Amino acid sequence: MFPVRPHRSTGILSSASGAALAILRARATEWEVELAETPGGLTMHVWGSSLTLIPDGSAVRIELSAPEARLIGVLQDSATELFESHGLGIHWDNVDVGALTPGLALMRVVGVTPRTPRFVRVRLQGEQAARFGQGSLHFRLLIPPQGRPPQWPRVAANGRTVWPEGADALHRPVYTVADQAADWVDFDIFRHADSPTCDWACQVRPGDQAGIIGPGGGWCPEAATLRLFGDETALPAIARMLALTRGDVRAWLRCAPEDLGDLANDPRVSRCDDLLAALDGANLGTGEDRHVWFAGHAQAARQARQSLVQAGLTRRQFTAAAYWGQPDSRA
Ligand SMILES: Cc1cc2nc3c(=O)[nH]c(=O)nc-3n(C[C@H](O)[C@H](O)[C@H](O)COP(=O)(O)OP(=O)(O)OC[C@H]3O[C@@H](n4cnc5c(N)ncnc54)[C@H](O)[C@@H]3O)c2cc1C
Repeated sequence: MFPVRPHRSTGILSSASGAALAILRARATEWEVELAETPGGLTMHVWGSSLTLIPDGSAVRIELSAPEARLIGVLQDSATELFESHGLGIHWDNVDVGALTPGLALMRVVGVTPRTPRFVRVRLQGEQAARFGQGSLHFRLLIPPQGRPPQWPRVAANGRTVWPEGADALHRPVYTVADQAADWVDFDIFRHADSPTCDWACQVRPGDQAGIIGPGGGWCPEAATLRLFGDETALPAIARMLALTRGDVRAWLRCAPEDLGDLANDPRVSRCDDLLAALDGANLGTGEDRHVWFAGHAQAARQARQSLVQAGLTRRQFTAAAYWGQPDSRA
């Protein structure tokens, strides 16, 4: 095997070094990511990539290094946004002006088929299918307004992505790769009321163009003891994690019995009507090497976070993710 050569990009930040370094430190704290300080500069490690600030006279050099060209684009976009929000511009040596935003793959709809009573499965086909569902389980589906030709987000001269706005604004829900091969990706949509995504799934036809961006989000947590809790929206992610983990795993799913599909025959899976009650009643394991993963309505995720902290789990021992709904509304 040949070693993977990192992709790189450089730029100049017109700023006194103190201000730029303080902005990067604050962002690393906010994102809870690693920061390494050396005599020459300050490096933030994120997404398997790095962003380094190197004071250079009256300016600051910025260096990006990433395992994929896509991640260089993502870093350029986020760094430009971050520093511009503090009034500091970056002059990048190279920007792919006019290109589709990094990570966006334009695919073709193969079909939409019923999977269980409340889920449909969508298959998309395209050259970039293989990179989805690798390292991260999720992606964003970009849905143009009905009746309008899609306007896809593209890279501007400053390195930032320009997203279509107004009448052309895209709906951008997050979904999970349920299955895939070299040239196709499947995902499962839970059918619920007032859903632009369900409306899209009802009216798309084989051959229609579809944009997906990613991959992004988490992967299966590595822990000897893994406990998974989720509603219908988390069912595809839990199914993937059950297939990926080698640990002692148990899962609780809040969904109708007939929507469990193949998981109904998995002895590690229990169905429930109340995820928070299931969480309170479950044996969450003991010791350091355990992880509790919870995803569902935002309010339920917030309550789960509180009860896991009260149960003594550390921040690294649990995930409590809002998969839908507003944080301050009632579940
Ligand atoms: C990391 C991640 C992975 C996800 N994976 C999947 C997946 O694989 N499959 C899947 O089906 N969903 C998944 N979801 C959830 C999905 O993104 C949301 O349900 C999203 O709101 C769907 O967009 P929409 O167009 O249907 O509705 P939106 O336009 O977002 O919302 C429209 C209305 O529908 C309501 N709504 C949204 N979701 C639900 C629901 N589940 N039940 C009842 N009402 C709802 C909203 O509160 C709002 O009132 C995932 C979410 C995240 C964060």
